[in-house]
Amino acid sequence: MVEPAQVTADQLHLTPSQQHYLYRVLRLRPGQQFLALDGLGTRWLATLTATAEMASIVPALPDRHLPPADLTLVAALPKGNGFDEVVRQATELGVTTLQPVISDRTLAQPSPNKLERWGRIAAEATEQSERLLLPQILASMSWRDYLSQTTTGSRWICVARGDAPHLLAAALSRPAAEPATIATGPEGGWTEAEVEAAIAAGFETVSLGPQILRAVTAPLAALTLITAARRLEDSLKVV
Ligand code: SAH
Repeated sequence: MVEPAQVTADQLHLTPSQQHYLYRVLRLRPGQQFLALDGLGTRWLATLTATAEMASIVPALPDRHLPPADLTLVAALPKGNGFDEVVRQATELGVTTLQPVISDRTLAQPSPNKLERWGRIAAEATEQSERLLLPQILASMSWRDYLSQTTTGSRWICVARGDAPHLLAAALSRPAAEPATIATGPEGGWTEAEVEAAIAAGFETVSLGPQILRAVTAPLAALTLITAARRLEDSLKVV
């Protein structure tokens, strides 16, 4: 991830840790190319030069990475460091906003330095997956406070048991460009009252299939289904 101060007209000044990563970890040599991102929507095609701390750059247009429709994951915090994995995987899968929430059965209260750690993980995953924009990670709040806010677009809450419609069917029935919010519960699941409060706030209950997924697996499955449904709708429009 590149800071604005590192970029001049056609040159990128590499930090020592970036040089280490490019030369030692990726084993690139002068003349070889890589992508540089600022996480704010700009990316460059960079070429290593004979001077180790300099790369020459040309602006690179987004190709595979169209600006995504808003996709928000609201996840009840799993225990331990479980949310680290959720942040990494959700970023790879194209989430635009991550809202950690504290629910009735959430075991862990997040420590204040967690947000910074999650930001670092999201930045790494943004680079790794070559997405153009960093996801926004919001400060944790209670599920009830979250529900009192107004949001737009489709809102789905994943419920592990019962006969809710499958998320894939629900996602395919909505336009790909519409913002979507998906909520997943903690290890112990949502309480009935939490699900009812969500429905009252405009959420629809959805299923991810007959298996009971872990709190860190459910967001991964849900985001995969939504992004796949969006891709399919996009390609159907072209045919
Ligand atoms: N302990 C609970 C399951 C919790 S799973 C029970 O036994 O019922 C953690 C969260 O993942 C759930 O709150 C739900 O949001 C999501 N989840 C897991 N499997 C799911 C499924 N098959 N369909 C929908 N949501 C699921």
